[in-house]
Amino acid sequence: MSNLNSADVVVIGAGVTGALLATRLAKTGKSVLLLESGPRMGRDQLVERFRSSAFKSDFMAPYPYSPLAPHPRYTPEPNGYLQQKGPHAFNAQYIRMFGGTSWHWAAQLWRYVPNDFRQHSLYGVGKDWPISYDDLEDYYYQAEVIAGVGGSPESGSPRKHPFPMERVPASWLQQRVTARLAPEFTVLDDSTGRNSRNYDGRPACCGNNNCMPLCPIDAQYHGGLAAQQAEDSGVKVITEAVVYRLEHDEKGRIAAAHYYDWNKVSHRITAQTFVLAANAIETPKLLLMSISDRFPQGIANARDNVGRNLCDHPAIGVSFDVDEEIWPGRGPVSPCSIGQFRDGDFRAEHAPFRIDISNASQVAAVTKEVVAEGYFGKRLEEQILFRAARRLSIKNALEQLPDRNNRVTLGDKKDELGLPVPALYWNVDDYVIKGTEQTRACYDAIAAKLGATNIKHSKSGAFSNRQHITGTLSMGLDPATSVTDAWGRAHDHENLFMVGTGVMPTVGTCNVTLTAMALALRTADKIIEESRHA
Ligand SMILES: Cc1cc2nc3c(=O)[nH]c(=O)nc-3n(C[C@H](O)[C@H](O)[C@H](O)COP(=O)(O)OP(=O)(O)OC[C@H]3O[C@@H](n4cnc5c(N)ncnc54)[C@H](O)[C@@H]3O)c2cc1C
Ligand code: SF4
Repeated sequence: MSNLNSADVVVIGAGVTGALLATRLAKTGKSVLLLESGPRMGRDQLVERFRSSAFKSDFMAPYPYSPLAPHPRYTPEPNGYLQQKGPHAFNAQYIRMFGGTSWHWAAQLWRYVPNDFRQHSLYGVGKDWPISYDDLEDYYYQAEVIAGVGGSPESGSPRKHPFPMERVPASWLQQRVTARLAPEFTVLDDSTGRNSRNYDGRPACCGNNNCMPLCPIDAQYHGGLAAQQAEDSGVKVITEAVVYRLEHDEKGRIAAAHYYDWNKVSHRITAQTFVLAANAIETPKLLLMSISDRFPQGIANARDNVGRNLCDHPAIGVSFDVDEEIWPGRGPVSPCSIGQFRDGDFRAEHAPFRIDISNASQVAAVTKEVVAEGYFGKRLEEQILFRAARRLSIKNALEQLPDRNNRVTLGDKKDELGLPVPALYWNVDDYVIKGTEQTRACYDAIAAKLGATNIKHSKSGAFSNRQHITGTLSMGLDPATSVTDAWGRAHDHENLFMVGTGVMPTVGTCNVTLTAMALALRTADKIIEESRHA
């Protein structure tokens, strides 16, 4: 039995990956303690907070914030939690609360394509993974069943089993864009964890376009559901528990995790096995904070790899008015995308990418625009209706290669518990720039096929984050260039595992969380298997 000071396994971070792993371990009878730095809040409270928020297009607005477990915020002003040290700002978003960041996502749950796992062997760039697509196929399916994923079977990722969920019917926007871009561009259903029928006690999507920041009826899968399931499976949960140090014994095994509660009282928790699931920025921060005489650079960091190879999808966008009414805002926000540039020999030369077609309502954006143009009264109303019915917004997920110089370190500022904030250095190289040029050419071709007017490309040379943070805890066969082995175990510490997007060596061209979920389930099975043989 776990008590609140020790357990068989301590998991740090109650996001979707930590929660899935904790659930699986608890179901085998292990005592599991889940430490979560943020508070607990229910969907009903979050929906209420969203309804009363003045910042409807800020996805963070409904989510609780505390300077005791701070996260980055950008509205109304950036809170400076992430110290930016590189030529490009890495404007990461994440949530610190029970359930983690995927409370406010689009639930796009894609598999990587098989060649993503052997990019270096095939194309001479990036990294090979220590595992193959085939090693992960079963786990991908298990994660898809948990989340109720549906999508296009022709996504480029072979499957042994059909999707567990049928697709949500295509919106009018999706139907028109698919028809008009063919045959040059093939528009696919996104792979999403979104119910098209009652599934796992949750209702079917009713199509009213609030998926980000929050599906009000839980038709969309998210980490809050995963964390609750962990607790319901017997996992003991302590929220408002900010882990700030890992302690090791004389053999280098992790002996305890130390956390502050929100009164800054310190607690020491012991376990046989520790799993870090605090996301790809906070986990390296914790490792770098955990210094000792024997590990002066921090835990799992004997070869200075922790925090390096920080990647995201540096994105560019375009918006324009289509020559017919497509009515964005009816149906889910992310229904479809173009996947034909995700893989090919060109990857030796430039970044591959996926093109994401948004179905988010454009009313707020066009209203701001036409008010700024001086419209008022009846003409204002006509212009809002005219443009909001035609406006199409598109962005990309373009692969960035791992670069050791892009990294998370400890900043010199401190939070209210006296813990250092994360500092980030981020740059983009020619591989990305060339991929960006290819994307822009596609955007222009798409706009032409849709009879576009009022075309607006995002600013040249500027990139936005897609929040697919990877690489900082990279798994690999060689301890000289990676932090964990192929199971997410720290090369330097036998009983320390890591899960989450940080262990992924490359970022690919799709939203990354399904792969992290699959890896977390695989790591859970490894821990279970080893304890059977112990
Ligand atoms: C706006 C937005 C949209 C997104 N859309 C998608 C999408 O459609 N598809 C997709 O695949 N991905 C999407 N993502 C990314 C996705 O949310 C993350 O990849 C995913 O949540 C990572 O899960 P995780 O469990 O690793 O970490 P998290 O969900 O970030 O959870 C980590 C948890 O650890 C806790 N923690 C942190 N530090 C400590 C500490 N010191 N002690 C104790 N606990 C700690 C945090 O409080 C948090 O609850 C999106 C992200 C954003 C911001
Ligand atoms: S459209 Fe989005 S917010 Fe609305 S029910 Fe469907 S998943 Fe939920």
